[in-house]
Amino acid sequence: MLITHDTECALSLLVELLNTAPEVCGAERLPDVAALDAFVVRQEISEIDSLTEDDLRRVHELRTRLREVFATESTAEAAELVNSMVAAAGTTPRLTNHDGHDWHIHYFAPHAALGDHLAAELGMALAFILMAGERERLRRCEAPDCARVFVDLSRNRSRRYCDSRTCGNRLHVAAYRARQRSAEAVPSA
Ligand SMILES: [Zn+2]
Ligand SMILES: [Zn+2]
Repeated sequence: MLITHDTECALSLLVELLNTAPEVCGAERLPDVAALDAFVVRQEISEIDSLTEDDLRRVHELRTRLREVFATESTAEAAELVNSMVAAAGTTPRLTNHDGHDWHIHYFAPHAALGDHLAAELGMALAFILMAGERERLRRCEAPDCARVFVDLSRNRSRRYCDSRTCGNRLHVAAYRARQRSAEAVPSA
């Protein structure tokens, strides 16, 4: 799979954003402008000026649409969502080497509003995944009580659970129990 480091970073930001949603956390993790501002700082999102209530509303909307891409059943369906998201964001690809980073492409327009910035950057990251024929790597955690999403970048696409502490532990416990069961199942000769 040809996924660049930049795309991987954008996908990680995408997952972080999706997993702030109330349907995932039980509560909205981006409830106000201050929380959104903290998210921007934590995720080191560049070229963002001061944020407003409008930015907050638009990021919530975008988050819902991005999550829909994870629920699609075909690449055609996902491509339609991604295309409209990226088109509406007014992308202007340009090379930059800001803040000591190597040359990379910013798809968002200079100093675009946060919603447009994210729609362009995350939409393009999804476009690269779709182009590589890897839509199925966009996953929802299979733990029954977990609604988190993740992008499975494992070599053999075998990842089933998100990397939250709960699901990561659950995975280990389940594997341990399975080993115990199969050990017990061996008939003692
Ligand atoms: Zn950059
Ligand atoms: Zn999970």
